[in-house]
Amino acid sequence: MNQSFETLAIHAGQEPDPRTGAVIPPIYATSTYAQDGVGGTREGYEYSRTKNPTRAALEDCLAALEGGRRGFAFASGMAAEDTLLRTLCQPGDHVVIPDDAYGGTFRLFSKVAARWGLSWTAAKLSDVDSVRAALTDSTKLVWCETPTNPLLSIADITALAGLTHEHGAKLVVDNTFASPYLQRPLQLGADVVVHSTTKYLGGHSDVVGGALVVDDDETAEAIAFHSNSMGAVAGPFDAWLTLRGAKTLAVRMDRHCDNAERVAAFLANHDAVASVLYPGLETHPGHETAAKQMRRYGGMVSFRLAAGTDAAVRVCDRAKLFTLAESLGGVESLIEHPGRMTHASAAGSPLEVPNDLVRLSVGIENVDDLLADLDQALA
Ligand SMILES: *Cc1c(COP(=O)(O)O)cnc(C)c1O
Repeated sequence: MNQSFETLAIHAGQEPDPRTGAVIPPIYATSTYAQDGVGGTREGYEYSRTKNPTRAALEDCLAALEGGRRGFAFASGMAAEDTLLRTLCQPGDHVVIPDDAYGGTFRLFSKVAARWGLSWTAAKLSDVDSVRAALTDSTKLVWCETPTNPLLSIADITALAGLTHEHGAKLVVDNTFASPYLQRPLQLGADVVVHSTTKYLGGHSDVVGGALVVDDDETAEAIAFHSNSMGAVAGPFDAWLTLRGAKTLAVRMDRHCDNAERVAAFLANHDAVASVLYPGLETHPGHETAAKQMRRYGGMVSFRLAAGTDAAVRVCDRAKLFTLAESLGGVESLIEHPGRMTHASAAGSPLEVPNDLVRLSVGIENVDDLLADLDQALA
């Protein structure tokens, strides 16, 4: 049966337990599994680093939501990224990364993978020519984020997939900001989808996790091998929490989008605001591409203050309902100053962000309460 997204989010990978009828997959807090005679595992369960039923339920659900064949759940988004790059690359290879990549991704490539012999070039992913110019004979991966963090720029996934494949490389899309409800990169030609499930998929700021989803068996087998060999897998409690969050992804995302659209429109009309970065605004340079590849425009809104850095810091300090905190994608609204918080380590690098920038993760509270809070913070 070809089920729709909302239905898959609640049911994929989650048959009632055959023994008890438990509707929700239990938290299988076990490291090992009894075998029926030497080598006689039940459904391949022998050790929980390799396979665990709670994690398997989450992995099957994530694969269904992204429209891929196999999903893999990790202890964090960074663990997923590290496992992926060591699965697909080897020392001497080259990768293209976004010039406004997530800070942790930039750090992984520039400080960890570089030491292991992987070289990288930062390119403007919203500009296909800039990516083409960054490709070398050793390029194995093009790493794409869209929308990006915190500048909300948009890359054309279909165009990048074409270019990347022509070059014999693979396209990886970090789909954390959009979530599979708003954007499905595998269907647009991407080879691998990466998630920090800490954000929208988990959705309640109560668990850290990561995921990879692919649609071809060869890459899936290679990831399964490395995931088991490196061992950065999601624990059963974390997998259970993430699966619980994913059930409501569609309804949460719709409310995130409703609220973010109202917040973006409010900020665009506010005198203290110099510019609003939100792909849903027709003035956004990536609006047309976003309209083509996304269902809606997401819950993240960034804006620049007309009065500069001090004004940006002041808004962050004065907001009350918007909690001053890093991270994003939870039901509660968050505000932060990327220049001094999430992106402080990017100062002086190609990924440095403007200091008059404020980033909002617009939650699903009543939107009038959110607008009133921003209004007083900007006054
Ligand atoms: C948070 C985040 C990550 C890293 O994920 P963790 O779960 O924090 O390890 C990667 N990419 C993006 C876009 C993120 O927002």
